[in-house]
Amino acid sequence: MSDQPAFRFHPDAYEHGCFEASDETCSACARPCVWKYTQHIYALPPDPSAICSRCIADGNVAKAVPDGDYGLHDFSFDEEPEAALADEVEKRTPGFATYNPFIWPVRNGAPLAFLGFGADANLAGLAKVQAAIMALAAEMGADEINPADALIFKTLAGDDYVATLDLD
Ligand SMILES: [Zn+2]
Repeated sequence: MSDQPAFRFHPDAYEHGCFEASDETCSACARPCVWKYTQHIYALPPDPSAICSRCIADGNVAKAVPDGDYGLHDFSFDEEPEAALADEVEKRTPGFATYNPFIWPVRNGAPLAFLGFGADANLAGLAKVQAAIMALAAEMGADEINPADALIFKTLAGDDYVATLDLD
């Protein structure tokens, strides 16, 4: 596997700072990390000291946590996805910082991909992102929603955008 594997449900994970360059030894595979995971791993203590991007991608994190049980997000799906896809999002997709547990949208059994926050420079100008934030505001009965509070997702096979809320 590549030292810098891709993550289809969080395609900009490296740009988002989910990993940092490091030659620390990975707690799961005992190789130099190359790209060390910087986000929280939800598992029983003790926390693994370092986890590499390869072990995030293939689920090898299980070897470094008690009972092999862990998750990478504090979240819930809005619809139940196919089990294999749920597992890929929960255990093999890099997490990101939010204030509160958040909703990960699912359409037709497939989770959407997390693109970033509505205020991000590469998203703020997109009409489909703005429309998704307006649809979220309408759903919440709000006049408007601060784009910085909106998590932006896009269908993997298609061009549909969905926003969900991360209130501080
Ligand atoms: Zn590793």
